[in-house]
Amino acid sequence: MKKHNFYAGPSILPGYTIEQSIAAIRDFEGMGLSLLEISHRSKQFVAVVDEAVALFKELLSIPEGYSVIFLGGGASLQFCMVPYNLLNKKAAYLNTGEWASKAIKEAKLFGDVDVVASSEGSNFNFIPRGYTIPADADYFHITTNNTIFGTEILEDLDSPVPLVADMSSDIFSRPVDISKYALIYGGAQKNLAPAGVTFVIIKDEVLGKVDRKIPTMLNYKTHISKESMFNTPPVMPIYAALQTLKWLKMMGGVAEMEKVNKRKAELLYGEIDSNPLFKATIPNPADRSRMNVCFVMNEGFEHLEEEFNKFASARGMVGIKGHRSVGGFRASLYNALPYESVEALVGVMQEFAQQNK
Ligand SMILES: *Cc1c(COP(=O)(O)O)cnc(C)c1O
Repeated sequence: MKKHNFYAGPSILPGYTIEQSIAAIRDFEGMGLSLLEISHRSKQFVAVVDEAVALFKELLSIPEGYSVIFLGGGASLQFCMVPYNLLNKKAAYLNTGEWASKAIKEAKLFGDVDVVASSEGSNFNFIPRGYTIPADADYFHITTNNTIFGTEILEDLDSPVPLVADMSSDIFSRPVDISKYALIYGGAQKNLAPAGVTFVIIKDEVLGKVDRKIPTMLNYKTHISKESMFNTPPVMPIYAALQTLKWLKMMGGVAEMEKVNKRKAELLYGEIDSNPLFKATIPNPADRSRMNVCFVMNEGFEHLEEEFNKFASARGMVGIKGHRSVGGFRASLYNALPYESVEALVGVMQEFAQQNK
C-alpha cells in the first residue's frame, strides 16, 4: 500500500534526495568510493558545500553581507549559540511554543530576557500581535513556525532591533525577505535533509559585538571563516541537503513552493472546518501553520479519536498522531509532501465521517 508520510520531523524528503543520496553512498562522483568514506576536505566534497551555500543564496535571494554555514548540534544548540554570540545585556523573545520556550530558557543564562508576548496561557493556540519590541534589546527572537502547536508567522516582521528567527520547520516553504533578518537558523530534518545538520544564515555585521569570550566551536566567526570546515561537518546530511536544494530549484523555487503549500493547507483546513467530526485547534485562520496542521475530534466525537487513528493508518496515513502536549492529530505538509497525499487524507476523513454519522 502507498504510504502518505505526515511525520513532523524527521519527515518526508523528495524522492530525488533519497535516490541521489543512495547513489552517492554507493559511489560518490565516480570516485569508486562511498560518500561515507571520503575526506570532508576532498575537492569533491568541498564542491558540495560550496554549491549548497550558493543554492541557499540563490533560492532565498540572500543579499550581500550574509554568510551561510552548516553546523552540527541541531536547532537546539542555536538556542544557546545565538545569545552566546549576540546577547550583551538584554534580548527580546516572542513565546509562541515549546521551542520558543526552550530558546528563552537558554538565553536567560546570558543576560536579561524580555518576553514581549506569550500565548502560553491558551496552550499556544495563537500568534500574539500588538506587542512592543524594546529598542534597547540586542535582538528580537521569533519562531516562525511552531511545529508542535501548528501556528505560523507568515510575514516578515519589522523590528527596530536585529531580528533572529528559528525557521526549522518552514524554511524554503515561502519567499522570505532576508534583509529583514539578522540571523536565521534551523535544523534540517523538517524541510531539507535528514537529521544531523543545522543551517545558519547570518548578517556578518551583527557579530563581534558581545564582550564575553566565546568558545571556538560556539563562535559563528570560526565557522564562517573556515566555510563550515573548521571541524568535520555532517557530510551525509549536507550532501542530502544539496539534493533537496537542487530539487527545489527544479520545482520552480520557493515562490512555486508557496503556491503548492497554500493549496495543500487550504484543502486540509477546508475539510477540517467543514467535516462535522473534526475541529482545528488554531481558531484564527491567519495564525494557522501551512506546515503542521493540528486538529482534534469535534465535541461529541472525542471517543472516536483512537478509532480514526487506526482507520487512517489502515489506509496508508503515517505520522498523523498529534504531539502529546496538544493531543488529537497533526498532519505535516512539508515541501516534499505531494498534493495527492493531502487529497488522500481528506478522502479518509470523509469516508470516516460517512461511517460515523
Ligand atoms: C524540531 C525543531 C527544533 C529542534 O530541532 P533539533 O534539531 O532537534 O534541535 C527547534 N525549533 C523548531 C521550530 C523545531 O521544529
